[in-house]
Parts: sequence; C-alpha cells; structure tokens
Amino acid sequence: MKGTTHLAIGTGIGAFASAYYPFTITHTVYYVSIAVISALVADLDGPSLLSRKLSKISKWIRELVIWLGLLSTAAVIFLYFRYNLVYPELSIMALVALLLALVAKAGVIRNILVSIVGCGMIYCGVLLEMLWLLGLGVFIAWIPWLKHRGLSHTVWAMLIWGAIAWGLERQLQVEGVAMVALAGYFSHLLADTLTPGGVKWLLPLSKKTIRLPF
Ligand SMILES: [Zn+2]
Repeated sequence: MKGTTHLAIGTGIGAFASAYYPFTITHTVYYVSIAVISALVADLDGPSLLSRKLSKISKWIRELVIWLGLLSTAAVIFLYFRYNLVYPELSIMALVALLLALVAKAGVIRNILVSIVGCGMIYCGVLLEMLWLLGLGVFIAWIPWLKHRGLSHTVWAMLIWGAIAWGLERQLQVEGVAMVALAGYFSHLLADTLTPGGVKWLLPLSKKTIRLPF
C-alpha cells in the first residue's frame, strides 16, 4: 500500500477522534499527529517501496520536510538544554515531519537517521524518566533493520505500539490517545492485507500470509 494511502487513512482516524472526543485545538494536533505516525510507522522497516515512484517535485518536498524536521528537532533540543523550555506541540510536529519524510526514503543513511532519532528518544526517555518514551525509542531505533513487511507488520508490534501509546496517554492526560494509536497501526496492517503482497500477522508464530486483495 502506498504511503500516501496510509497517510490519508491516518489523517481520517485523527479527524474522527477530534470529533469524537471533547474538542480542543491541542487535542486535535495530538490526535492527528499520533494517528498519522501510527498509520505510517510500520513502513519504517526494510527498503521503502515508495521512494522509487517519487517524482522530482515530491523528492524536493521530501528533502525540504526532512530538513524542516531536523531543524525543528534541533530547535526543540536546543531550547530544552539551553533554556529548559519544553514545547510539546513543537516537539510532536518536528517528530511527525521527520518520520513522515524518512518513511519515504530508502537506504542505509535513512536507516541510520531513523535509528539516531530512536536513540535520541531513548536518551530523553532515560533523562526524563519516561518509560513510554524509552519504549518508543527502542521501537523506532530497531524498526529500520527489520525485513520489509516482517515483524513490524504483526499483531505483536501493534500491541507493543498500543502499550507505548498508553504510557503517552497517561503522561498527556488526553483521553483516547492509546485508542487512536492502536487504530492507526491497525489501519496500516489492514490496508496492507488488502494488497496482493498481504501481511504475515502472526510472525514468527505462523508464517502464513493473510491477504484480501481488492
Ligand atoms: Zn506496510
């Protein structure tokens, strides 16, 4: 399934959650970003199939988004360590931009970049004593080195993702964060199941590929 399809479904889930749960702008930012990341994160594995089909303009946009993501991440880190300021919304946006752009990229450098982002999260998780952030860091750092549509495309990965999001939900005190993350991840597996390639939902317990191609 194409990244843009996952992106669209994730945005839809985020929009639905914003309407379903008590509405505030901040919550909408949370729901949409978390749903979009959850709907895309599984494809940070293996070689991205997306990158080959990109047009020149898309590539430019991708590079731009990567640099925006890197710069805003640097800004977030700088503000924290220099002035002890924390902007959760800016941090989330930086992360979304970075991950979005990296999903659409392939190769060893991209994998290393993703792992560096993951290690940064592990570091912050330890520093701030946030277990969910530590877990998220391990998840992100590990995922690029998996086979495409392998372990990241299983119910186990989905449940671990849900557990991480549950920690985030308790931290943010925003109802529905874990549900949105689970729904986003599930939507990815489901969408891939609808492609001819299918998904091995129960790997490594069962190597059976489940597919319901359109
Ligand atoms: Zn996938």
